[in-house]
Amino acid sequence: MVTNVLSVASEAVPLVKTGGLADVAGALPAAVAPHGIAMVTLLPGYPAVTAAMGRKRVVHEWPALLGQPARLLAGQIGAHKLLVVDCPALFAREGGPYGDASGKDWPDNWRRFAAFGRAAADIAAGAVPQMAFDLVHAHDWQAGMALAYLRFASERPALPAVMTIHNMAFQGYFDAAVFRRLGLPRAAWSVDGVESYGGVGFLKAGMQAADVITTVSPTYAAEIRQPEFGMGLEGLVSVRGDRVRGILNGIDTALWNPEADNAIPARYGPRTLARRAANKRLVEAEFALQPGDGPLFTVVSRLTWQKGMDVLLEVLDHLVGVGGRLALLGSGDPAIVQGLHDAAARHPGRIGVRIGYDERLSHLLQAGADAILIPSRFEPCGLTQLYGLAYGCVPVVARTGGLADTVIDANPAALAAGVATGIQFAGVHYHALRAAIDRAVALHRQPALWQQLQRNGMKADFSWTASGRTYADLYRELTGKTA
Ligand code: ADP
Repeated sequence: MVTNVLSVASEAVPLVKTGGLADVAGALPAAVAPHGIAMVTLLPGYPAVTAAMGRKRVVHEWPALLGQPARLLAGQIGAHKLLVVDCPALFAREGGPYGDASGKDWPDNWRRFAAFGRAAADIAAGAVPQMAFDLVHAHDWQAGMALAYLRFASERPALPAVMTIHNMAFQGYFDAAVFRRLGLPRAAWSVDGVESYGGVGFLKAGMQAADVITTVSPTYAAEIRQPEFGMGLEGLVSVRGDRVRGILNGIDTALWNPEADNAIPARYGPRTLARRAANKRLVEAEFALQPGDGPLFTVVSRLTWQKGMDVLLEVLDHLVGVGGRLALLGSGDPAIVQGLHDAAARHPGRIGVRIGYDERLSHLLQAGADAILIPSRFEPCGLTQLYGLAYGCVPVVARTGGLADTVIDANPAALAAGVATGIQFAGVHYHALRAAIDRAVALHRQPALWQQLQRNGMKADFSWTASGRTYADLYRELTGKTA
């Protein structure tokens, strides 16, 4: 029996992406399809989304969706079935999905994503008669209100619901004054509703209303019970502890496969690692780096405190001092950007920096660099270490969240057993990162060992196969439907 799932997400590859959420929302439908799950993804009608949809049908209209006229469009991209909330007043804007071109959040984000949630709840409650759903799967704070509307303001009994947290740092927290404009009954203004620390919390509302809360790695699921990671919601996570699960993200192997990647000049596999040299030469050319014997490190990241980029800055002189080089691609915090430009100016030919978002270059770096540095202070799952593993770009990671769950540290036992895939370090500070870089340099001097790390990573399975099944099992557990 097919289980019909409405996946509610504010971004999805290949249409709109600011981070890992988009990779997951884009890959999930195909990952669960083999297990009898028919998934339709609901997205906001950003210009990039409505333009890319091609043929689309209007399947529902709202005279006033939180005050604005809106239509629901149905279409698909490849096999991925989409529903799109076409509400130009809220979503047809230049800039990013959450803010203007300068990165400033839209002041009416509460209304934009409350409307998005309201639309999702209406659809789940049967607004489109030919589309019946058995379960709602909401992703991150932007979709959290879907579950609150289902629970508090829906004519039908609420469907089973899953709330997935891709990053606890983003909670969609708004002023209490917003509440009376949400169209929710007074009963929703309570600790077990949408109220959060005197304001309205969209993620909190979703977590409260969900049957099961998932996050994207087992270690992060445990970490968010502590204040440092729970960021104010650790109490709720603990109270609902038996309903919290960690399911690792997979990677889309159709897009991320070094043997069939069109974005790189030399394709290769575990037995043809030598071919990576051509990719490395192109990285060196594109980042104006001189050739060298030491490891070529890369970073592909948002340039933020979460990602430990301030600590990276501190360690760059040392990295160059021990014979390393760095090719970095990222965008974010202006102070970090400035620090990187300064480091590149101090070390011409050793440090190359590209500020911006560039999908092709992100593939080339994984295919050409020797190691990828990921000094995150917290990392719900992390995808770049998984791409690094698949591409033989050895991950050097902080031991937190999904990084802890996916990289096997090259400690003496793991090396002796021949199972190591990377380097882990504990604590995101100068000395820990410096020691990890030293270990990488030392291992890189031993080509046989280094290649073993590369091959072990490339052979590990981080596809969606296992996690697709786990999500499908969860959906069936909650709906009571069998395969
Ligand atoms: P987060 O979602 O916290 O940013 P993840 O590691 O889960 O971190 O996902 C980041 C995704 O964004 C990866 O697919 C990574 O390759 C990509 N990415 C990050 N920065 C850039 C960039 N500047 N250019 C291209 N891709 C990037």
